Amino acid sequence: MNDTVNLLGLDADGLARLCADWGQKPFRARQLMRWIHQRGEHDFAAMTDLAKDFRAILAQRASVSAPPVLADPASADGTRKWLLDVGGGNAVETVFIPEADRGTLCVSTQAGCAVNCLFCSTGKQGFARNLQAHEIVAQLWHANRALGGGDPALRARGERPVSNVVFMGMGEPLQNYAATLAALRIMLDDDAYGLSRRRVTVSTSGVVPMIDRLREDCPVALAVSLHAPDDALRDELVPINRKYPLAELMAACRRYLERAPRDFVTFEYVMLDGVNDSDRHAQRLVDLVRDVPCKFNLIPFNPFAGSGLRRSPAERVRQFAQRLAQAGIVTTTRRTRGDDIDAACGQLAGEVRDRTRLSERVARAPRALAGAGAEAR
Ligand code: SAH
Ligand code: SF4
Repeated sequence: MNDTVNLLGLDADGLARLCADWGQKPFRARQLMRWIHQRGEHDFAAMTDLAKDFRAILAQRASVSAPPVLADPASADGTRKWLLDVGGGNAVETVFIPEADRGTLCVSTQAGCAVNCLFCSTGKQGFARNLQAHEIVAQLWHANRALGGGDPALRARGERPVSNVVFMGMGEPLQNYAATLAALRIMLDDDAYGLSRRRVTVSTSGVVPMIDRLREDCPVALAVSLHAPDDALRDELVPINRKYPLAELMAACRRYLERAPRDFVTFEYVMLDGVNDSDRHAQRLVDLVRDVPCKFNLIPFNPFAGSGLRRSPAERVRQFAQRLAQAGIVTTTRRTRGDDIDAACGQLAGEVRDRTRLSERVARAPRALAGAGAEAR
């Protein structure tokens, strides 16, 4: 099985090339795509409208395989979380959040993350490896099967439980660009999941050159994890800011909007008690984003062991939101979902074997935090 190709990670061009290599007509690629992604089929023998000899080639040289599920807890609020074994001692998490009018899947792109934001449990684990495209797509493939795969009527109507995808799980998608792009193309393909660009959101900590690449290659909805109104504080909270400071990030957001499917960028802002949540911070944010059409999504900090940080009180979050709203910025506060199963934002820890840098980070965190806190008051 080792040298078989996992078809879950091939976009339309990739599948077409494979079919050509195996002497098959191009339309076979579209057929395969529909079987795999629309019907959730992994058994080539069941793909009855493919020629028998082609099915035999596929069975020999290809597979449709998702990482094994290690755990599958359900939250009291309907949130589901799957812990997927991606090998080598690493596991990643995928979270499904049902709402009245949509079902949103939050996918991971890396085991761990190298950006190392101060408030993020994924970042605290260090970086193990990039996921491959098939491992990213497998999260959507698996969720659709697990949630509604048993209902042939639903499948026949082409309806799938997941209507929206957000790249807000573990990892920084724009530091795993090639795999993220391939996965996006599959998610948007009408023969696969057929999601519109507005229903797929990439969230980034601010990898400026890759925001520009995404704008050219596949401009889906963009969320940017802002978390601070000035470089001094953001350098501490989101260390990639030292490389791509706020002025560059704002300029990249403006460029992105020329091609984006929505006419705004979503700024995510984790609310940290006494660190970034004062009225003065809100005012400086208003100044910072003056030229960037945007919405704000405030995320009450989700604590995890050893973070040393606290969630802003609800009243503080409300007043902060009001400040932004008064300046004409649409502001929402994210309701915490799935925290009883550690599936809330930033609680996704998975399992990462390479923890070599963890001790260094823990040692560094209190100092960095003291600096950030002092700055804020
Ligand atoms: N790496 C990307 C996407 C994954 S993180 C990014 O940083 O944008 C998804 C969101 O969860 C980001 O906005 C991130 O800042 C936020 N987040 C991380 N840790 C959190 C925590 N402990 N509590 C609340 N939100 C958190
Ligand atoms: Fe990485 Fe995003 Fe966590 Fe920062 S918030 S460490 S970029 S996953």
